[in-house]
Amino acid sequence: MTHWETIIGLEVHAQLSTESKIFCGCSTRFGSEPNANTCPTCLGLPGALPVLNRRVVELGARAALALGLQINERSIFARKNYFYPDLPKGYQISQYDQPFSANGTLEIMTANRDEAGHVHEWKPMTVNITRLHLEEDAGKNVHEGLPDVDRYSYIDLNRAGVPLAEIVTEPDFRSSWEAYDYVNHVRRALQWVGASDADMEKGNLRCEANVSVRRRGDTAFGTKVELKNLNSFRFLQRAIEYEIDRQISEVEAGQRIVQETRLWNERESKTYSMRSKEEAHDYRYFPEPDLPPLVVSPNFVEKVRAALPELPEARRRRLVQEYNLSLDDAAQLTETRAMADYYEATAASGNPRAAANWIINELARELRVAGTDIASSPVSPESLSEMIRMIDDNTISGKMAKEVLAQMFSSKRPPREVVAAMGGGQLSDEAEILALVERVVTESPKQTEQYLAGKTALLGYFVGQVIKLSAGRANPQLVNKIVKQALDSRSKLK
Ligand SMILES: [Zn+2]
Repeated sequence: MTHWETIIGLEVHAQLSTESKIFCGCSTRFGSEPNANTCPTCLGLPGALPVLNRRVVELGARAALALGLQINERSIFARKNYFYPDLPKGYQISQYDQPFSANGTLEIMTANRDEAGHVHEWKPMTVNITRLHLEEDAGKNVHEGLPDVDRYSYIDLNRAGVPLAEIVTEPDFRSSWEAYDYVNHVRRALQWVGASDADMEKGNLRCEANVSVRRRGDTAFGTKVELKNLNSFRFLQRAIEYEIDRQISEVEAGQRIVQETRLWNERESKTYSMRSKEEAHDYRYFPEPDLPPLVVSPNFVEKVRAALPELPEARRRRLVQEYNLSLDDAAQLTETRAMADYYEATAASGNPRAAANWIINELARELRVAGTDIASSPVSPESLSEMIRMIDDNTISGKMAKEVLAQMFSSKRPPREVVAAMGGGQLSDEAEILALVERVVTESPKQTEQYLAGKTALLGYFVGQVIKLSAGRANPQLVNKIVKQALDSRSKLK
């Protein structure tokens, strides 16, 4: 394997989060009755004229800036001609030689993984993005769930005319994990700036990979194969991995790689040939005569840039510096913008280290179990930071706090109320603790005898019993100290 090099380029289609379509006023709502969201323009009826949706330009600009692209002052919509049943016009309005934006440089973090997908070490990587252009989506053929599907195909044009940003990279990736990390970065960046929901499972982020192999040291590229049907991040990574192995064994067996499009079949974990590129269409691109050139002023671009939130990578670096977090923790806390906002609001209470731990571990677990996300967390950042202050001033122990947080989560009540309902804060009164200790020691004659005979490991037993007797409220450090004193004094008496 080591004397082979893999070359991967990626194309991502992201649906821009507009209310209406790119060239008409129809809704982009997902899940409507088939063909409910259509009009003469997106049905491609003769004489209907497209009008560009301004919101598409704004969201396209946000996406382009979030990915480090330069926005062209002038771009041209072009007709991409091909015949397909889900494309009633016989052409798709896209952009060709003068795209909306180009020449992007993006820094991402990437890591090699072991077989199970565990990260070895994160390192930065620069990706060159060739272009991001704007286009309309096609409709959808439906082959399932309708009468007589064995004899008929159905066409749903609700998706026809939904706005897309197509993002194309240079062949910069050398492994399936680099490709995986890049697409994940793009997903997060687009969601972060509100340009796209970028949900692969819902189909509003779609990905294609161009994969080729060559012997290390060769300068010419091998024949590339286009991979489609990569409907999740994991499929993308697995399909590329399979394809690399397939191509290397073909070449090593003296075969030629055919330039073609292959589909990933997840059930069989294989790629299958869909069509060879020799049959590929010549799209006969030409400028769309019904739309003027798109002119975007530098002023507009600067306005969009100024309104962008701090971008994920910049924010991650700042969290590391400002709150003294590890790279890994900061990465988890910037997984979404809502998460980063939540963290900073909690950290403001004065214990950023504890805030990171509680969010990444306990709160994340509660959210996972409840099947919800941080934006709808029943525990507010104010409540969580108040709970952390109660640990810091010894009102509750760290152990109690886990139970307090679980109850805050299920009841949506603030920590002081939860602690009061649990019978009050941490018990730190030495006399009260001593009384509990005496009771436990008296009720455990066998263990006391063994302890006094030298089995000091039994200390934990006594501490546990006392804390249990206090309903979890006794301060563990104090209990430890007092149990030891009580037993040791008995040993001296003997
Ligand atoms: Zn329409």
